[in-house]
Amino acid sequence: MKLASCLCAARREDVLSPPILNPSVAIIGAGIAGIACAYEFARRGCAVTIVERREAAGLGCSWYAGGMLAPWCECENAEPLIGDLGRESLAFWQAHFAGTVTRGTLVVAPRRDLPDLQRFARRTDEYRWLDAKEIADIEPQLAGLRHQALFFPREAHLDPRAALAALVTRLREDFGVAIAFGAQPGPADWTIDCRGLAARDALEDLRPVKGEMLVVKARDLDFARPLRMLHPRMPVYVVPRGDGVYMIGATMIENAEEGRFTVRSALELLSAVYTLHPNFGEAEILETGSGLRPAFPDNLPRLRRRGKTIYVNGLFRHGFLIAPALARRTADIALLGKAFPELMRETLNEDRGERQAG
Ligand SMILES: Cc1cc2nc3c(=O)[nH]c(=O)nc-3n(C[C@H](O)[C@H](O)[C@H](O)COP(=O)(O)OP(=O)(O)OC[C@H]3O[C@@H](n4cnc5c(N)ncnc54)[C@H](O)[C@@H]3O)c2cc1C
Repeated sequence: MKLASCLCAARREDVLSPPILNPSVAIIGAGIAGIACAYEFARRGCAVTIVERREAAGLGCSWYAGGMLAPWCECENAEPLIGDLGRESLAFWQAHFAGTVTRGTLVVAPRRDLPDLQRFARRTDEYRWLDAKEIADIEPQLAGLRHQALFFPREAHLDPRAALAALVTRLREDFGVAIAFGAQPGPADWTIDCRGLAARDALEDLRPVKGEMLVVKARDLDFARPLRMLHPRMPVYVVPRGDGVYMIGATMIENAEEGRFTVRSALELLSAVYTLHPNFGEAEILETGSGLRPAFPDNLPRLRRRGKTIYVNGLFRHGFLIAPALARRTADIALLGKAFPELMRETLNEDRGERQAG
């Protein structure tokens, strides 16, 4: 490692308190945050237990995710921290989940919306502009549609339900860790609270951001990678799930109406994909749904340590994109006594306040 990056790492990871060796760890919540944390602690030799209040893992917000692993595209409207956590997590998924598909992301816009695409390009990097022939080379069914495109070749996607299920299986088979449904967490050296939005009772500044999505089957469309369509009213993305099935997402609405999918959202999302390719007009709607993304006021994630509990929350629209990197940092806090100021502002301020008061 270069000296500069060693120094940077040392500043980032100030030692907070002496570590406990081989602690027991109780995880509350089996969404992507909880399952990623369980997997990380189990890999490091801890005795892990998981409790989940629903009847299966991943039925909270994680159920509705598109599964785009797009750290470069997301920086169009997210802080560089998301890009950093996302690139680290992308490597995790590529190494640990065989269903990770690395074929890049195509960001397209109708020719009249070129300024939107130029603005997207100014805010991102690691892409190249494609002309009409190059678009048709990688996605033949977009030939002749007069779209403009940016291509982000290093991005990937996965089926989030399959990815979460694969980690649950690895936890059970490799580490003997099973999920206790409907149970209360038992005593443990560390408790990792991954309850998503339900943790509002302890994290008062957490808020819901509703996201609506659809799953459709379009028999005659065969896209190989996520397509993002810049659209003046409703930007939309389409994530291939294989066999002609596509997830279409997603709205961003500041309310807590879980499960309520409105006509307006359906009209806007479906009109936008119809602009992307008219054959979506013949697609069969398999599923509609909506989840509540847990978000802090600045839409950035937090690791908040209170005593021997660490709250892993605020994953907002980036749960699958960043959970493995957050899990690694959570384990570093508990097992190595490290601190990550960019994720732990409130904890470090509280610690400072307690030290001054003491
Ligand atoms: C439409 C939509 C599209 C999205 N697309 C993407 C995408 O493409 N890429 C991406 O990275 N992210 C995406 N996201 C965001 C992602 O889904 C969230 O960031 C992520 O699911 C949050 O995960 P979580 O584990 O924090 O919360 P959740 O998935 O909600 O998990 C919390 C779990 O805790 C359980 N729980 C709550 N209280 C208790 C309790 N007392 N005891 C036990 N268990 C409890 C809940 O039942 C739940 O299972 C999308 C979200 C939506 C809504």
